Amino acid sequence: MEAFWNQVLNKIKEKTSAHVYETWFKPLRLLEKNETLLKISVPNSFTADWLHSNYKNIIIEAVFETTGKKKDILFEITSFEEIKPKKTVVCDKDPEIKDDNIHDLYSFENFVVGSGNQFAHAACLAVADNPGRTYNPLFLYGGVGLGKTHLMKAIVQRCLKKNPRLTVCYDTAEAFTNEMINSIRYEKMPLFRKKYRNIDVLLLDDIQFIAGKERTQEEFFHTFNSLFEIKKQLILSSDKKPQDIDDLEERLISRFQWGLIADIQPPDTETKVAILKKKALSRKIPLSNEVAFLLAHSVKSNIRELESLLNRLEACASFYKCNITLEFTQDVLKDFIQIENKEPAAEEIQKLVSKYFNIKMSDLKGKKKNNAVVLPRQIAMYIIRKKTSLSFPEIGDLFGGRDHSTVIHSIKKITSVYKEDNLVKSAVDIIIKKL
Ligand code: ADP
Ligand code: MG
Repeated sequence: MEAFWNQVLNKIKEKTSAHVYETWFKPLRLLEKNETLLKISVPNSFTADWLHSNYKNIIIEAVFETTGKKKDILFEITSFEEIKPKKTVVCDKDPEIKDDNIHDLYSFENFVVGSGNQFAHAACLAVADNPGRTYNPLFLYGGVGLGKTHLMKAIVQRCLKKNPRLTVCYDTAEAFTNEMINSIRYEKMPLFRKKYRNIDVLLLDDIQFIAGKERTQEEFFHTFNSLFEIKKQLILSSDKKPQDIDDLEERLISRFQWGLIADIQPPDTETKVAILKKKALSRKIPLSNEVAFLLAHSVKSNIRELESLLNRLEACASFYKCNITLEFTQDVLKDFIQIENKEPAAEEIQKLVSKYFNIKMSDLKGKKKNNAVVLPRQIAMYIIRKKTSLSFPEIGDLFGGRDHSTVIHSIKKITSVYKEDNLVKSAVDIIIKKL
């Protein structure tokens, strides 16, 4: 079945560009094949939809050219982890077990340094250059997709480049846990301990995974101590700082704080653009500044999401044989990105306020001075000022040409009342929420 699938993939390769092939086809696995149907495993529903609407015919054609028969295609969402045997990533003296996951992609050279990650980057470099001698342990923490795994893999590469004799082990905490469970089950704990206690540099990614797992914490506690005592380097990563990880034993929390804790903060727009530009350059994707800024504005912080937008863009550009212009990007990504800077229209705010207080728009904008309209009017001015970039005189114009000093007075008033008056506070909050 594998040989057959490889033949099909080779045919597809001839029909598409290299990047489209790498992005969409290479990760696919054949699950089942019969006379009329091929069942193909895909990693998520987005890929399934995308393949279905864009590339299904290419697969059918390639299957036809391979078998001489027209078969239908069914996409099934499966986690690839279940299919691909998970390899424990150990890079050590034995060239046979050099890791294949850690390649140049995740190097220090390919890591863009910005204000949010410069501290973590510097700490990782220092540790990679002098393992066991600078900061021990090094504890990295930060949100999803901000580069923790990238930095850890860069440390592995650099350590080994500088000293190929080192035993460097990168694992996820999940893999560590699974390996431990299997070792208990098959009575191989002595081997497990031997492996994890004869390491020069141990990197455990996503250590928060061991929270609530007492036996794993116990085992890791001893691993930690035995490595630490003989000045071996430990590097841990997590989505939170040690003291914020729930269900983590106190003695581990305190050990994690012994060395250096380095956080990674979300990237600013310029860093996101620099990352995009770097990735685009290395993959020879022509990416203008305006497109890079649009992508950077569309993704809040997760760099993995940023990369996946770039991938989609590139795949579509090569599929439709289009240049990556701003319009093309907006069109292709319209379902995936929320273009920021979309400020609510002042008119919309006025409508919401009049609806909330059940008064007429003409009264809200008009000259009446009774209490029933004055407060809503002031609230509307306050929200418009807060949520749009209109100036005081412009806001005044929206309310029947009122003077800018009236607008300033209204906004000042609501700013102070907002803190004390729950009714005003909840009105403002609800209206803003509806925008
Ligand atoms: P985390 O482990 O923090 O969830 P990753 O290290 O997996 O995040 O990063 C997600 C993706 O973003 C990876 O492909 C990584 O190469 C990329 N990335 C993150 N930060 C940077 C950076 N500063 N420069 C270049 N690429 C980055
Ligand atoms: Mg990670």
